[in-house]
Amino acid sequence: MSITENVHKLLEEVPKTNKYGEPVSLVAAVKTQTPEAINEAIAAGITEIADNHVQEFRDKYDAIQGNPSRQFIGHLQTNKIKYLIGKVDLYHSVDRMELAQDLSSRSVKAGVVSEILIQINAGNQETKGGFDAAEAEDAVKAIAALPGLRIRGLMAMLPFTDDETVLRPLARQMRGLFDTIRAYMPDFDYLSMGMSGDWKLCIEEGSNMVRIGTAIFGPRNYNA
Ligand SMILES: *Cc1c(COP(=O)(O)O)cnc(C)c1O
Repeated sequence: MSITENVHKLLEEVPKTNKYGEPVSLVAAVKTQTPEAINEAIAAGITEIADNHVQEFRDKYDAIQGNPSRQFIGHLQTNKIKYLIGKVDLYHSVDRMELAQDLSSRSVKAGVVSEILIQINAGNQETKGGFDAAEAEDAVKAIAALPGLRIRGLMAMLPFTDDETVLRPLARQMRGLFDTIRAYMPDFDYLSMGMSGDWKLCIEEGSNMVRIGTAIFGPRNYNA
């Protein structure tokens, strides 16, 4: 199937709203993809794209057409923040306090407010970054006090498994955490959770933003 066909299929399959009636965002994860491939996805109806690497984000920036929302989902080194300030519509991957502090001060200096999600390491996987669920509330409160940032919600990294008995309770726990924090955080709108293999389950459990790469572009070729 072509990229265009994949996007059309997803736009049909991904529900417009989740069970809470919240709109569901379909974000294309574009790491390793060429501007041509990304532009095909946008022409087919994708309105939000997300990169993992600062270098790729910069290299492709001017070649992207159609004015999509541009987001960042990768591990961000603090010395690279300067290349992104003012250009990223939503940072999904604020995964540590030092990054939040630097992103805030750089944003203030540039006269912008950066919109962010707090990345949660669901299930405390050793190989993944992010705050533990147990420290999420303290992190949100501390980061909410920083002047250059506006916290819009949570991004959850779930384990790479297709075992529903592992994924479903974690996804449900993330939605619970999201609801708990949203009760006192006014701008808390997004729960970014779900990728090509598990987006259906995640939306069923209350995600309202899914990040999809492979199901749009096919398997990634890291050697290209
Ligand atoms: C690559 C990536 C995705 C998309 O993964 P697919 O399985 O290809 O859909 C989602 N989120 C993050 C953080 C990623 O790095």
